[in-house]
Amino acid sequence: MSRTHGLISILLFTTSLLLGLTALIIESPYLGLGYGFLIIAGTLGISFFYCAKCPVRLTRCSHIIVGPLTRLFPERQSDQYGKLDYTVVIVILLFLIISPQYWLWNNITLLIGFWTTLLLAGLEINRFVCTRCDNTRCIACKKRT
Ligand code: SF4
Repeated sequence: MSRTHGLISILLFTTSLLLGLTALIIESPYLGLGYGFLIIAGTLGISFFYCAKCPVRLTRCSHIIVGPLTRLFPERQSDQYGKLDYTVVIVILLFLIISPQYWLWNNITLLIGFWTTLLLAGLEINRFVCTRCDNTRCIACKKRT
């Protein structure tokens, strides 16, 4: 069940980023290309810095596709998360969210769509994914004792 919500949250988050990408492409294809590169690099960055330390990444990843992406990287020593891991993920997410804001304000429909899907994704993750995820090393995991 958490995988269903994990999939829904990934689809919502992806939709949000694609709406941001659309706003940038309308302004300039080059800006869109740059943001598209950021989305891909950010996804790989999160997979490498965060998911590679997840004990369930290849078996029960709540977000279905992010964990298996770690197969692209060399094996990392699985360990507890540190400040650097959390900081990198937060910076990447903030960068992806903040980057298209200036251009989204030129298109109110895309702006509303971006924030609606983003907030719904956050709600899904907080209410239904983190509560059932088996990555007990993660600070957001509600199964941590
Ligand atoms: S469960 Fe979370 S931390 Fe673990 S691989 Fe999936 S997305 Fe990454």
